[in-house]
Amino acid sequence: MRAMVLTEISSFAENREPLKMVHMPDPVPADGEILIKVSACGVCHTELDEIEGRTPPARFPMVLGHQAVGKVLETGKGASRLKPGDRVGVGWIFSSCGKCHFCLSGDENLCRDFKATGRDANGGYAEYMTIPEAFACRIPDTFSDLEAAPLLCAGAIGYRSLRLTNMKEGQRLGLTGFGASAHLVLKMVRHRLPDSDVFVFARS
Ligand SMILES: [Zn+2]
Ligand SMILES: [Zn+2]
Repeated sequence: MRAMVLTEISSFAENREPLKMVHMPDPVPADGEILIKVSACGVCHTELDEIEGRTPPARFPMVLGHQAVGKVLETGKGASRLKPGDRVGVGWIFSSCGKCHFCLSGDENLCRDFKATGRDANGGYAEYMTIPEAFACRIPDTFSDLEAAPLLCAGAIGYRSLRLTNMKEGQRLGLTGFGASAHLVLKMVRHRLPDSDVFVFARS
C-alpha cells in the first residue's frame, strides 16, 4: 500500500514536507482487529507535535493520522462486532488495557497501556490501517467521509469540553482560540443552544 510516513523529528520551519510517500506491505488484522480501507483522514495540530518531537512517535517510520474514516475490509479472529462493509471512524485512542480503573471508568486515555493512533501504532495517512475493533466506531449515514473525519478528534474534544461546561440555553460561551475544535463547537452551540451568545478570543 501507499502511505505517508514520518521518518525523523524535524522542525517544520526548516522542513516543510516532513512526510514521505512510501510503499509498504498491506497491514494484516491481528486477533480482535479489523482491517480498514481508509477513504479520508483529518489533520490535527497533534501531528505537528509528533513531527517536531513534543509527543514523538514510538518508532520510525510511523504512519501518522488519527481522524480516519473508511470501510471495514476484513476482520481478524475474534472480531465480531463489525463486519466487512461497515463504515467506521478511528480517533486518537488506538488501544488501552480495558481492565484498569481508568479504562473501566471511561478514561482510557489515562491508562498506562494507552496507545495512540498514528503515534504508537500506524494511523490513517495510508490506504489501509488496522485497529482493535473495540476502538473503531460506526459512522452514521448523515455524514460524508470528509464531514465525519474532523469530528473524530477536533469535534470530540470540543463536544467533551462543551459538555463539561454544563452550559444552559441563554448562557454565554467564550472560546479561547479559534482552531480545528472551536470552529466546530461554534456550529454545535448554534445548533443546540440557539439563544446563547458565543465570543471568540483570538489574535491575528
Ligand atoms: Zn487530534
Ligand atoms: Zn487500562
